[in-house]
This record gives sequence, C-alpha cells and structure tokens, in this order.
Amino acid sequence: MFEKINDKELTSQSQLKRFSEKWNADPDFKKQVSKDPAQAVCRYNLKINSEEIRRLLNEYASQNGEQDSISPIGTLEQIFSEESDKDISLAALPKDFRFKAWRERQIARNESLYKKCYQDQIIHAPFAVELSKGCSVGCWFCGVSAPRLSDLFLYTPENAKLWLEVLELLKEILGSSAGAGFCYWATDPLDNPDYEKFCSDFHEILGRFPQTTTALALKNPERTRSLLKLSREKGRYLDRFSVISLKILNQIHEEFTAEELAFVILALQNPESEQIIKANTGRLRERNQKQIQKKAELSEKLSQEEDSSNPGTIACVTGFLFNMVDRTVKLISPCRANDRWPLGYIIFDQGTFADIHDLRATLERMLNEHMSPTVRSNDLIRFRSDLQYEKLADGFQLSTRIITRKFRHQNYLRELGEAIRQGDKTSAEIVGLFNLFGVPSEKTFQALNLLLASGCLDEEPTQKTLAYAR
Ligand code: SF4
Repeated sequence: MFEKINDKELTSQSQLKRFSEKWNADPDFKKQVSKDPAQAVCRYNLKINSEEIRRLLNEYASQNGEQDSISPIGTLEQIFSEESDKDISLAALPKDFRFKAWRERQIARNESLYKKCYQDQIIHAPFAVELSKGCSVGCWFCGVSAPRLSDLFLYTPENAKLWLEVLELLKEILGSSAGAGFCYWATDPLDNPDYEKFCSDFHEILGRFPQTTTALALKNPERTRSLLKLSREKGRYLDRFSVISLKILNQIHEEFTAEELAFVILALQNPESEQIIKANTGRLRERNQKQIQKKAELSEKLSQEEDSSNPGTIACVTGFLFNMVDRTVKLISPCRANDRWPLGYIIFDQGTFADIHDLRATLERMLNEHMSPTVRSNDLIRFRSDLQYEKLADGFQLSTRIITRKFRHQNYLRELGEAIRQGDKTSAEIVGLFNLFGVPSEKTFQALNLLLASGCLDEEPTQKTLAYAR
C-alpha cells in the first residue's frame, strides 16, 4: 500500500499505535488493561494480542519514572522520525545568508531557554501562513490565544494569484528550506474550505506537501480522509490531530480505522492525558495568571512547574508569520512567554502588504534591518535582559537557569563585558574605547560578532521601532 511499510506491518503497527493512544489518554483504560487485558482490547475493538500487550507494558515499566507514556517502536516510529528529520534539515539551510545567520543565533538564544529535550523538538520552521482570521475551535488552553474565526482567505482567482506569488517569493529567499513551512498558526487549517488547494500549490512550488495539524478531523470525516490521502500521495507521512477531550478521542477511533490514522500523530490534549505538558503561554498563561492572583500559593507551584519542565512556548517558527486575510507579515522567533511576549514568541518586526511588490520590499527590509550576520557600527550593544551577567577574573559569564556561557582567557574580555553590561554604547563606540587601550578594532569586532552569533546580545525591538513598523 505504501512504499515505506508493507500492508502487514502497517496493520499490526497501527493497532499498536492505537493501543498506545488509548493507554496514554485514558487512565480507566490503563486500569482495565491491568485487570483484564484481553477484555479491555476487545471492548475497544483493538486487534492486538496479549504478547504484544506484554511487550508494550514491559517497555512502559522500564520507562516509567522517566516518561509516563508509551509509544510502539517499529517502522512507523522510524517513519515519523525520518519525516521530522527531513523538515528539520530542510529548515536548517535557508538560501539567504542573512536569514541563515539570524536563524542560527535565534536557535542559540533558544538553547539557553529550555531543556535540551524540548529544544530538540523545535523545528524553527522558516515560515507559517494563516489562511483564516481566527479559529473556530476555541480551546481554553490555546497557546497562541487564537481569536474567534471571523474571515477566510478563499481560493479566488485574485487570491490564488497572490498565493502563488508569495510562494515564489519565499522560494527565492529561502530556497528548498521553504518546504519546511506550513499553513496554520492561530488558525485551524480545516476552517478554510480551500486549504487543500493552497497545499497543492505549496507542494507544486516548494517541493514538499505541508504538514497539517487540525482539531477538526471530525468536522467532515470524508474531507479529512481525502486530505490524508492527498498528503500521502504527495509524499508527506506525518500529520497531526489535536485531541481536546477523551470523548473526541473515542469518536476519532470510531470514525477512522487504525490504518487510516497510521501516519497521523494524535496530540493528546485531553485533561486526563499524561502525555503532554501544556505550555504556559497564550490563553493558558492568562488563565494561570488569573488563578495566581486568586491564590498566592498556586503562584509558587506554577512558577516551580515553569522552572522545571514547562517550556513556556508552543511556537516553532523562526522566520515569517503571514496572515493572508489581513495581508500582514511578522518576523518571529520562540521565547518563554512573558509580559511583553505573552504568546511565547518575540515579534522583531511587522508590516502589511497590498501586493507582492509591497511584500518583497517588506521582507527585504526585514532581512536588512534584523538579520545582519555581523554587528553594525551604529548598533547599540547590550546583553539580553534575561541573562544574568557575572564578572570573572579573566572575562565574564552569562547565565540562564539552563545554561552558563563563559567568555574568558583574554585580558580585555573583562572590560568588554563591563562595557556591554552598561548597555549605552554602539559597537563603534566600544571599538573606539578599546582602541585607546591598544586593542585593534578587528579584535573587538570579532568578540562582538561572537557574542551576536551565540545569541547573547539583545535584538528585541524597542516599543517605538515595533510600533513604527506596524
Ligand atoms: S489550540 Fe489550535 S485549534 Fe485550539 S483554538 Fe488554538 S489554534 Fe484553534
């Protein structure tokens, strides 16, 4: 049926996958399996034998303590991992050298924010496109605070023309790495009745069918089936359904066969699930903060959770975020949600566009203004405000609770750290200052460029520049 896996394997592994979904989502199912595995699998119409259940449970027992969920290891898992690796490696090689340098330093900044296991999951896709205004689902935990669905970008002749032009422009700037983009954000793809047409153009121009994540798989099951079929035909072997309640999980399992969902990861967001830690960002963060105001003791609990394991973001784009309805574009990259960036991503710049010429000019401006691979003479040089600075005998160090980066073993580094910490000098002024003490300009620029590349310098826009770009 599929070139990557034979029919027999597909059947057996999709049943194991379904068993794991039920296990990870439903504590009652777990209890039933411990009591009487044969009856439990029969009740949910799972075609899995007791030997396979034993193998999975042994695996769970050996993992338990480190990880509270199970996933069947096999060809399907390998396919998922290959699909993710393909997107990660595509995203890593944008054609434009400025974009590449900027992306790499945003990733370096991100490395200081989360544990490695979470950092490794962020693809840092080069762009995302919203084909609607808002989302009809309205999840209470929405990490990007999607507003209510209010408008759609339909595949009219005029819109289709603009869409094709946008894809061509992205291909020009990003090259094949544009294939790692996708077509949703604070939207559900299936709200747009023409989503598949936009995806087909995407595949045609950028060479890869975009990955779909939807919470609306049950809205029109026939449409969902056709979309999954199209996705496979175009070579995409990983899509996702968001599952927001146990009831919806059961309905999905009733509506779709295990084989139909073999290449669909179910993101279990239901409250009973132990699989997913919901990121403290967007609507969930707002709710948590309201609770914090009500209960002081909860504040301590939440901040401990955030410190230890909560990444505080669900953002996975380091690049452009488009809304085709509003014709807006933002330059974004993930961060821990905070009062300034409550949605878990920094907005470095934003603009609107009337047509493709306008968009080209806006993207070019963003590339020039934000993505210089080296510090420019008039850049104000200061450390990121979330870094803790400490003077060392032969240099300085910068820390977050995840990582400490040391810059040392050069006599002038201690003074350089102090000059940057003051945060009131341009790079030209710092270079001039060090010239007075006999440090060549080249050497100081080299040190500043190293700090820039390691994501330690503050690149966030001032309120004024962001407002101006609007
Ligand atoms: S989490 Fe996704 S599906 Fe739910 S409201 Fe937000 S954008 Fe919509």
